[in-house]
Amino acid sequence: MELRPRIGRRVVLIPLPFQGHLNPMLHLANILHFSGFSISIIHTHFNSPNPADHPHFSFHPIPDGLPPKSGASMGDIIPLVNALNQNCSGPFTSCLSEMLSDASAQPVACLITDTHWHVTQATADGLEIPRIVLRTSSFTTFAVLAALPLLRQKGYLPLRESQLEEPVHEFPPLKIKDIPRSGTTDHDPMYQLLSTMCKESKASRGIIINSFEELEPSAMSTVQQEFGVPVFPIGPFHKFLPPSPSSLLNPDRTCISWLDAQPPKSVLYVSFGSVASIDEDEFSETAWGLVNSNQPFLWVVRPGLVRGSAGAFQVPDGILDTAAGRACIVEWAPQLEVLSHAATGGFWTHSGWNSTLESLSAGVPMLCRPVLFDQNIDARYVTDVWKVGISIESKLERGKIEEAIKRLMIGREAMEMRERAACLRETADRCLREGGSSYKYLEKLVSLIMSF
Ligand code: UDP
Repeated sequence: MELRPRIGRRVVLIPLPFQGHLNPMLHLANILHFSGFSISIIHTHFNSPNPADHPHFSFHPIPDGLPPKSGASMGDIIPLVNALNQNCSGPFTSCLSEMLSDASAQPVACLITDTHWHVTQATADGLEIPRIVLRTSSFTTFAVLAALPLLRQKGYLPLRESQLEEPVHEFPPLKIKDIPRSGTTDHDPMYQLLSTMCKESKASRGIIINSFEELEPSAMSTVQQEFGVPVFPIGPFHKFLPPSPSSLLNPDRTCISWLDAQPPKSVLYVSFGSVASIDEDEFSETAWGLVNSNQPFLWVVRPGLVRGSAGAFQVPDGILDTAAGRACIVEWAPQLEVLSHAATGGFWTHSGWNSTLESLSAGVPMLCRPVLFDQNIDARYVTDVWKVGISIESKLERGKIEEAIKRLMIGREAMEMRERAACLRETADRCLREGGSSYKYLEKLVSLIMSF
C-alpha cells in the first residue's frame, strides 16, 4: 500500500510499556503514519520499544523512576501501572511542552494514550491539547469495567464462590466468574485504577478500540452510551498494514522452518502471552497432555512462565523424547506469522485480547485457558458467542488436556469451529477494505484529528 499524502501535522502517542499494550499502539502508529500524519512516541525507559524498528517515527524517552527490566509478572502489573502514573506526570508535561514549543517541528494535532495512562488527561488539559485514548481490550471488557460500580450495587461483587456459575443478566452470556477479579472497595488499588481509567476516558475526545463493529455490536453501543464520546473500532490493527516488529523479547524464527515441514492445519500453537504464569505442576500436566494428544505442537515457554522460575525453564528431557519430532519449543515466537502459517490448526491461548483477535482474524480456532484480568470475558465470547473454540475450565490435568486438544484439532466439532473461524477471518478482512466498517471509522478518526 502506498503512503497517503502528508498532512503536515503530528500525532503524539504514549504506549503503556507492556507487550499486550505496546503492540497495538505501535500498529496504530503505523496506521496513522500511513494516513498522512507524522508520528512521535513518548515512552518510558522501562520496557522501551526499539526505535530502530520504526525509523519513520521520532522517539522521546522520559524518566519513569523504575529500575530497567523487561517483562513483568502477574502480581506486579497493578502496582507498576500505579507507580508509572505517579512518576510520569511531570516528565510528560516537560516532554510535551518542549515539543509544543519547537517551532521547527510539525504542529501537534493531538495526544493518543493508552487508557491506563489516566494521568495524561490532566497533562493534556493543562497544555490544551486534545487527548484520544486507545483501549487495548474488547468492547465487552470495557463495558464491564465501566459497569463495576453497578455490578457491585447489584450484589454480583465481591465474587462469592457459591455464585460463580450464575449469569450476569446485564451482560449475557457472561457468568459471574467471568467478571475481572478487581477489589470492590473504593480504596482497593485495582478498583481505583479501573475507575480512574474509566473516568479519564470519559473526559477524552474519543476512544479507539482494537476490535471491529461486526464482532461486538451490542457492547459497542453500550460503550458509546456509557462513555459519551466518539468511538472508533478500527481493528484488527495488525491486518491494516504489514506490521513492523514490536516484540520486547527476540522471536525465535526457527519455529517457522519447523512449521514449514508440518502437514496443513496439523499443529497446535501454545502460548500464554507475555505475563500469565502457571505453577510447576500445571506445567508438567500441560507438557504431558500435549505429548499424549499425539498432535504436533509449537510451545512458547517464555522465561518466567513457570511461577518462581525467573529465567528460562527447562522442559524435562523425558517429555521431549516421547514427543520426538512432534514438538518445537521456543522462548518467544513470531506469533502473527505462526497464526497465519498453513500448518497451524489450533491455538491454546490464555485468551489475552491481542492473542484472541489475532487468532480470530487468522481463522484459527482456540483452546482457551484464561488466567486473569479480561481473559475470562474473551474466552466466554470465543466459546459461547463466536463458537470458535472450547475452554478448559477445570484444574489442568493431563487426561482432560489430551481430550480437549483432540476436540479442538480432530473430528466434526473441530471442522465446524474451523469453518466458523474462517468466516470471522473473512469478516475481519472485509471490514478493513475500502467501504468496510473499520476502514470507514479510520476515515472518521482522521477527520476528527484534522478538525482539532
Ligand atoms: N506474542 C508474540 N510471541 C509470543 C507470545 C506473544 O509475539 O511468543 C505477542 C502476541 O502476538 C500478542 C502479545 O504478544 O500481540 C500478547 O498480547 P495478549 O493481549 O495476547 O496477552 P498479554 O501478553 O497482554 O497477556
